[in-house]
Amino acid sequence: TFNFSAGPAALPDEVLLEAQRDLCDWQGKGLSIMEMSHRSDEFVAVAERAEQDLRDLMSIPDEYRVLFLQGGATSQFAMLPMNMLRGKTRADYINTGIWSKKAIAEAKRYCDVHLAASTEADRFLRAPDAAEIQLSAETAYLHYTSNETIGGVQFDFIPDTGDVPLVVDMSSDILSCPLDVSRFGVIYAGAQKNIGPAGLTVVIVRDDLLGQTLPGTPTMYDYQVHAQGGSMHNTPPTFGWYLAGLVFQWLKRQGGVQAMAEVNRRKAAKLYAAIDQSAFYANPIAVSSRSIMNVPFTLADDALDAIFLKEAEAAGLLNLQGHRSVGGMRASLYNAVPEAAVDALVSFMADFEKRHG
Ligand code: PLP
Repeated sequence: TFNFSAGPAALPDEVLLEAQRDLCDWQGKGLSIMEMSHRSDEFVAVAERAEQDLRDLMSIPDEYRVLFLQGGATSQFAMLPMNMLRGKTRADYINTGIWSKKAIAEAKRYCDVHLAASTEADRFLRAPDAAEIQLSAETAYLHYTSNETIGGVQFDFIPDTGDVPLVVDMSSDILSCPLDVSRFGVIYAGAQKNIGPAGLTVVIVRDDLLGQTLPGTPTMYDYQVHAQGGSMHNTPPTFGWYLAGLVFQWLKRQGGVQAMAEVNRRKAAKLYAAIDQSAFYANPIAVSSRSIMNVPFTLADDALDAIFLKEAEAAGLLNLQGHRSVGGMRASLYNAVPEAAVDALVSFMADFEKRHG
């Protein structure tokens, strides 16, 4: 089977097999990695290696801390203003769809939110152009969502903010291609797409932004507390951290993010080509903003949706149903989805169109 789930998403088979081996007996110790103290030498070695491998994969500069937290990307929607306002009262946001809207709604609880750009008037069918992004005076940071997982809209550039810290929700495209981390103040991502299992959240934050939290910030929501405690201020999500580490090792074996980016681009190009060549399938997103990770598409007749999904499942193509808010189909093509999965999907789509189109 091939799993096109948007999240929790496919993990590499090799990683699952390694985890299965370690699940009951970690290196002959007679206990599982899940049963070990996070402060044991064994787990600390696992944790440190995972962080180093992520630093290597993303070329994370030394002046950034990597935090392994809980609470999902959704908790970051609140942690960001708490940590990043640094005495200011306004933050800028770019609105490109459902996930940026949620981040904006949460930020409004803590500060004045200025929309630096929004594509809502275009029904979120594109990301804004660089020239459309207008920062407000005295803003604490600019937040954007690099890839709208539901809409299938991805930025093909990094906004330029000068001295204003740039903050990005990369939940659904982190590690999908090389990235210049030094352009950002904070990068955050829920793990359950390109990193590992649900329950782990990775935050990469520049040192100089730490330690200026909003008064009243709960201890657990203070980045500096986690940075100083090596993400072990309390019990961290040990299993997720361990499994993410296996994914990072797997990514290195694949040739790193540069190699992944080439495969990812090929996978997405094949699927968009199949959609564009057919009058039966459609994707409405502006070509330059099309996501290489999440490809939503519709059928000419939505009465066929249920049959499509049933036949796809029978053909081993799983979790193609679109998000409940948009309907249609969505194929998520994260790193762990092999190119063969896209080949199988494209040939199934052509066959389905022949029979039902
Ligand atoms: N941001 C983006 C872009 C997402 O795709 C998701 C989840 O799918 C979230 C935030 C929310 O993540 P979590 O469920 O980890 O809170």
